[in-house]
Amino acid sequence: VRRNPYEPEFQQAVLEVLDNLSPALTRHPEYDDQRILQRLCEPERQIMFRVPWRDDNGGVHVNRGFRVQFNSALGPYKGGMRFHPSVNLGVIKFLGFEQIFKNALTGMSIGGAKGGSDFDPKGRSEAEIERFCQSFMTELHQHLGEHTDVPAGDIGVGAREIGYMFGQYRRLANRWEAGVMTGKGLNWGGSRVRTEATGYGTVLFTQRMLERNGKELDGRRVVVSGAGNVALYSIERAQQLGANVVACSDSTGYVVDDKGLDLELLKQVKEVERKCIDVYAERRGQSAHYVRDGSVWDVPCDVALPSATQNELDADAARTLIDNGVIAVAEGANMPTTPEATSLLRRAGVLFGPGKAANAGGVATSVLEMRQNARRTSWSFDHAEQELAETMAGIHDRCEEAAERYGSPGDYVLGANVAGFERVGDAMLAQGLI
Ligand code: NDP
Repeated sequence: VRRNPYEPEFQQAVLEVLDNLSPALTRHPEYDDQRILQRLCEPERQIMFRVPWRDDNGGVHVNRGFRVQFNSALGPYKGGMRFHPSVNLGVIKFLGFEQIFKNALTGMSIGGAKGGSDFDPKGRSEAEIERFCQSFMTELHQHLGEHTDVPAGDIGVGAREIGYMFGQYRRLANRWEAGVMTGKGLNWGGSRVRTEATGYGTVLFTQRMLERNGKELDGRRVVVSGAGNVALYSIERAQQLGANVVACSDSTGYVVDDKGLDLELLKQVKEVERKCIDVYAERRGQSAHYVRDGSVWDVPCDVALPSATQNELDADAARTLIDNGVIAVAEGANMPTTPEATSLLRRAGVLFGPGKAANAGGVATSVLEMRQNARRTSWSFDHAEQELAETMAGIHDRCEEAAERYGSPGDYVLGANVAGFERVGDAMLAQGLI
């Protein structure tokens, strides 16, 4: 805390992990001897840079760019880019730190990183987005490479932004290096299911968590926060598995739809037209209504999937969910549940899937994209989806096994932290003091 005084999100992420590691540290004194924890909390490299760009009226803007390359003991740095005005070094460090454990949990060869900018893409024209992405990559390209650091998308960065950044990288590097970024377009190196992977994976994890605890997802009432990439594809997979998804939100408020959300209309409003969610309620008619600035967690549900941003589900929201009989919460977003809310939910016996496990399907499918790029091949949707399903089952079972091994069966938070930590810690021990 003293070392990183102005970084509350980073402190929160580290403390949450530390809270769960004491049994592992007691069992493995060698981690402490080699200061594995201290080394893990200090990024291997942090890059901050100026991103100047010109708007459509000729005005000059200056944003700040970040890439925190946190840990590469298990493989090249891997993690998304976030474009949102709330981005600062502390936010990127918290996301990068989480990414180390998440990537370790997938069982794949990837290290942890995160990046982004305080640029606000809202209301910007196509040309402005393109110029910003090019300026951003002009500086960042020298730090990337398929064996060095492989970015992907996150809040505010989807296929469009990845396209502009990849194009600029290719121009500057004078190299077609498909494996340098993931989330690419399908006809130029992207993987089927990458767009859907984080949302689908979160729901697959939730389904397995419920089943292992004698419950099912089919027929459950589900509420999702957000209406971006993770939220939309969580809704899609939950509906495919027979759940009734009745509400979702965006940064302006939330919609409740008694008939169940009309996903096609929702995608049209949010993905295609990039409008606010009130437009969904206007077009949907009587079954739906919109609540400006309200909390989507006021809507009664069996399963809650927070999929928007950090600290969006607080203690009050947790109490409301518990009073309304929620049985499971799985984090589609990174650290969406505050520490107080997490402990209330766990104490109330609610099944809780932490983000570093539940939302790891996105990064895992990014590695599948890299595999296809390396082999110059392209898998079918069914094949990629099958790989995702197997990966999510593996992540779930690794958390379950570690929780049992440390005497806390069913504690997915402890299981995820310990299983991720052991894998990275062992690799760091084997590779010496670097
Ligand atoms: P998107 O930009 O596609 O969507 C984000 C959604 O959350 C939007 O609906 C947005 O509202 C809403 N939102 C963003 N910030 C806030 C805020 N401060 N308050 C309320 N609502 C907000 O991002 P993603 O879906 O990609 O990411 C969502 C979360 O999932 C993030 O925590 C991200 O780190 C995490 N994640 C994403 C992965 C991926 O593959 N994309 C992988 C693993 C985790 P509006 O529409 O009004 O902007």
